[in-house]
Amino acid sequence: MPYYIAMFWTILHLFCVTATVMMVVLFFLYHQQANGFNFKRYIIVGAVSSLVTLIISYSRRRAARCPLCIGTPLMNTGALTHKRSTKLAPLNEGYTALLSIAFTQKFRCMYCGTRYDLLKSTHKQRSQPESKS
Ligand SMILES: [Zn+2]
Repeated sequence: MPYYIAMFWTILHLFCVTATVMMVVLFFLYHQQANGFNFKRYIIVGAVSSLVTLIISYSRRRAARCPLCIGTPLMNTGALTHKRSTKLAPLNEGYTALLSIAFTQKFRCMYCGTRYDLLKSTHKQRSQPESKS
């Protein structure tokens, strides 16, 4: 399931970024009274793991293709999106699709507008999209 793999790595990446940002904030708040706690090492580890997971999640999201239009429904490529594509306010369509998979196992391809239900297509090699208009 390329969609689940892409979702996993992207969430892991967001987790690493969040942890790194928190470490940087803690560093600026407490570095004057740092009693032996090595913030810099954690920041470097966090930054490296964020970069590694970014590269993996990027390649995984590129690999997760829509069977109908061969687009990348989990990543915005700058191409024009379908008029029925949905996005939550601060996010773009790719992250909205990822969140949708994480919570509902469903998503809508942003390029052709096809709705996918990952639970229904698990037993089939090619998912059969149900198009609603
Ligand atoms: Zn599509």
